Amino acid sequence: MRPTTCVVSLVTLSLLHATSAPLAEATSTDDSYPLDSLPREVSPKGKMECPHVDLVRYHGDVVRYHKPVLVYVGFKERLTQFEEVVREVAMEVYGRPPKVIHHAGTYNCRRVSGYPVLLSEHGLGNGIDVVGFDFAPARRVAPGVPRSLRREFQVRLGKHWDATSGVAALHARFLRTLASRLVQKGIFRVLLGPAYPGHKGHFHLDCAPYRLVAI
Ligand SMILES: [Zn+2]
Repeated sequence: MRPTTCVVSLVTLSLLHATSAPLAEATSTDDSYPLDSLPREVSPKGKMECPHVDLVRYHGDVVRYHKPVLVYVGFKERLTQFEEVVREVAMEVYGRPPKVIHHAGTYNCRRVSGYPVLLSEHGLGNGIDVVGFDFAPARRVAPGVPRSLRREFQVRLGKHWDATSGVAALHARFLRTLASRLVQKGIFRVLLGPAYPGHKGHFHLDCAPYRLVAI
């Protein structure tokens, strides 16, 4: 079993089988979240039934999503904070914000892959998979930004995370700065990325009742 797998198993077990003390330990901040008390344990087989939560369609306030997301109503404000961080880091690196955030899904009633008794936060509309960012053309680029980036361009985790040269290295810097800023900000409790198995091409960000960072 991989070390990260052990971590999530322990954290998950402590949450599923104990009460407030391990919960406080497992989360990094003192804030509570409306879905914290919802059980995440599900039967390992058969059709999934996800708990009812209020879902909203959301387009993005600060930066829009390439297509609207369907999320738990309380998760929407976390996404707005996420967009603010995206905007801030993009301004620092490129001198302009992205036109859209590309995602690979939010609400999806399913189990966590590899953990048949654990409800995915996607099953509550309480998580998002972010694959990249599209930038619109600009009349001029900010000082220090390559002129080629006047044109529209795309940044993708799957393509740019490990880049070390040319414009692609700038995209890597953007993605990595964004990742570390998100970890600092505490908007999300679970932040997974290329460092976590199965997440080479996306950031998974959610507000589960436990903390897990492997980005
Ligand atoms: Zn995900």
